[in-house]
Amino acid sequence: MKYVLEALQPQNVFRIFEEISRIPRGSGNEAAIGRYVADFAAGLDYEAVSDEAGNAAVNVPASPGMENCGKLILQAHMDMVCEKEAGSAHDFLTDPIKLYMEDGFVKAKGTTLGADDGIGMALALAIMEDKTLRHPAMQFLFTTGEEIVFQGAKPWTKI
Ligand SMILES: [Zn+2]
Repeated sequence: MKYVLEALQPQNVFRIFEEISRIPRGSGNEAAIGRYVADFAAGLDYEAVSDEAGNAAVNVPASPGMENCGKLILQAHMDMVCEKEAGSAHDFLTDPIKLYMEDGFVKAKGTTLGADDGIGMALALAIMEDKTLRHPAMQFLFTTGEEIVFQGAKPWTKI
């Protein structure tokens, strides 16, 4: 599939952001983006775990020689603010965000972009994907409902 943001660097970050943008993910509608995280992790031979709030966490072991360092957590939320221009037929439950580039900026046709927090997710997943990085044991935590009541952040210690 062709990527609208193909020319942007770091390329993997924007590829992942574009994949995330194709998945409707308003607050309360995070099941599909949670599956994307689980599939992404599975593709790297990691396992995602989830809780009753729909949060997804991926635990990644330390690189060789880094086992004695403290664990590092990277957190981002999966939901986005869903606003659209008056008259837009966009359905946030079913339609992908339509990305385009204008004057060097990434924009969305008629809707909010979802960079909050899609780019946070993309950065975290790009780090997860890069097996050349040396790092301590890590947890990548993706929470739900941040834009409404921090629903996912509250029970995060259960994962
Ligand atoms: Zn936010």
